[in-house]
Amino acid sequence: MAESPSIGTGKAPAGSGPDAAPGRAGAHIAWIGLGANLGDALATLQAAVQDLTHADGIAAVTVSRFFRTAPVDSSGPPYLNAAARVLTTLDPLALLDTLQRIETTHGRERPYRNAPRTLDLDLLLFDDVVMDTPRLVIPHPRMHERGFVLAPLCDLDPSLRLPQGDVTSLLRACAAQDVVAL
Ligand code: ADP
Ligand code: MG
Repeated sequence: MAESPSIGTGKAPAGSGPDAAPGRAGAHIAWIGLGANLGDALATLQAAVQDLTHADGIAAVTVSRFFRTAPVDSSGPPYLNAAARVLTTLDPLALLDTLQRIETTHGRERPYRNAPRTLDLDLLLFDDVVMDTPRLVIPHPRMHERGFVLAPLCDLDPSLRLPQGDVTSLLRACAAQDVVAL
């Protein structure tokens, strides 16, 4: 796992507990899923991580290893996936705006549902926030059954708890899925 020099947040739970963001009062912890299966997926994911690092209102970006995964509910070449934990002063919708802006920068198009993509950035968890709106659903509704999301999350923090259970057990239940660390 690579950590940017300014971080020092240690292992962080999904919630914003007292040790969630030492010295950064008012910051939220958000967990982001990254995926790509068109173009130079590795270069795109690396560039997206840099974009996150430089985005307004986002700090302390910690990134998992990268994983090669088989498309799930999608098509085309294998995906590369990763996850990032960030501290942010943005609210959930403003963070989604930022993620979608970064997707657009990297040529994301949506010709049809679940189409192959140059870059997909999903907001997985935001503190303990639960919201279900047309634009944003958090926690992300399908992450608990997707090895390509759980493996990177587990890499970042094996003790992370999702609403459906702990990430390590949930990942074990996805053992049949094709997910290999680079
Ligand atoms: P998907 O990631 O499900 O393949 P898209 O990336 O095309 O699909 O996103 C479709 C829509 O999903 C977006 O316009 C966004 O408003 C919505 N959405 C709802 N919840 C989330 C979330 N947690 N993270 C990212 N997008 C979300
Ligand atoms: Mg998406």
